[in-house]
This record gives sequence, structure tokens and C-alpha cells, in this order.
Amino acid sequence: MLLVSLVYASNVSTAVDEQAVARILEVSRANNEQQDITGLLCFNHRYFLQCLEGSRTRVNHLYQRILGDPRHSDILLLDYAEIEQRQFDQWAMGYVPSGQLARQQILRFSGKAEFNPYEMTGASARGLLAELGSL
Ligand code: FAD
Repeated sequence: MLLVSLVYASNVSTAVDEQAVARILEVSRANNEQQDITGLLCFNHRYFLQCLEGSRTRVNHLYQRILGDPRHSDILLLDYAEIEQRQFDQWAMGYVPSGQLARQQILRFSGKAEFNPYEMTGASARGLLAELGSL
């Protein structure tokens, strides 16, 4: 089964708070476990940054569902690649809340110290996710 990784950024809808994200994670983890999809989700009240890993067909189907979700908008595909191995194999969907987004880490991968995945290259977004996922 061909393995792929997809990274996207989006704008968080104003109605979405930590509780709403907890609900997204609950559904995501149950669905992803069933589909052997793994990944990491970052959230800072303004932006989502997410990596999805798994079979090409399954990741594509999930991404299409996520594109239509009204809890976020302006979804921007940052990176899509065929991969040899997963980065986040321990998580059906890992989570990094805003409190864990350290200034120094963001600065390492961005021009400014504020978390804004729209200002990042695909490689930088992937680098930040990999580092956050290894904490
Ligand atoms: P249903 O739960 O039947 O929902 C039908 C429609 O309503 C869908 O368009 C859905 O997007 C929308 N919807 C569902 N709940 C709400 C709500 N509380 N408020 C507003 N609209 C709602 N799903 C995964 O399975 N795996 C993931 O990794 C994943 N990551 C996500 C990351 C983000 C940032 C967001 C916003 C959503 C994510 N989702 C993820 C959720 C995904 O978009 C679907 O809601 C979910 O997969 C259920 O799909 P469904 O077709 O069964 O929709």
C-alpha cells in the first residue's frame, strides 16, 4: 500500500475553542485508528497545522472530508509526498495546543516568532511538526 504524507494549514473558525478541538480529536482518533491514519494537529486559536499520514487513497479521502468542514477555512496544501516511513506512527492524531508552541521553536522555522503556517514553506512546516512530534 503506497504511503503518503500530507501537510496543510487552515484558518480556525471563530466558533472553535479548545472544547471544539477536543471533539474533533475524539472523532479523528477513532476514525484514523480504523483507517491506519496517523498524524499531528497543531492549534493556536487562529490557525490549524496538520499532518496526515497513511495510504494514498485513505489520506486523499480524509483530506476531501476535511476540506468541507465548516470549523475551518482557507485550507492551504503546504506539502504532499510519498514517504518511506511514518513520522507520527505512535499517534492516530497527536495534538500540540498553543501553550506548547514555544517561541524559539517557531522562530527556528519561520521569519517571525509568531505561529503562522501560511508564512511557512512546506519544508519548514514539516520541520516544525517533526520537532513538535518528538517532544
Ligand atoms: P459527520 O460527522 O457525519 O459530519 C457531517 C458534516 O458536518 C461534515 O462536513 C463535518 O465536517 C461537519 N461537522 C461535523 N461535526 C461538526 C461540528 N461539531 N460543527 C460543525 N460541523 C461539523 N476527521 C478525521 O476522521 N480524521 C482527522 O484527522 C481529522 N482532522 C481534522 C482536522 C481539523 C482541523 C478539522 C476541522 C476536522 C478534522 N476532522 C478529522 C473531522 C472531519 O472534517 C470530519 O468531520 C470527520 O472525519 C467526520 O466525518 P463525517 O463525514 O463522518 O462527518
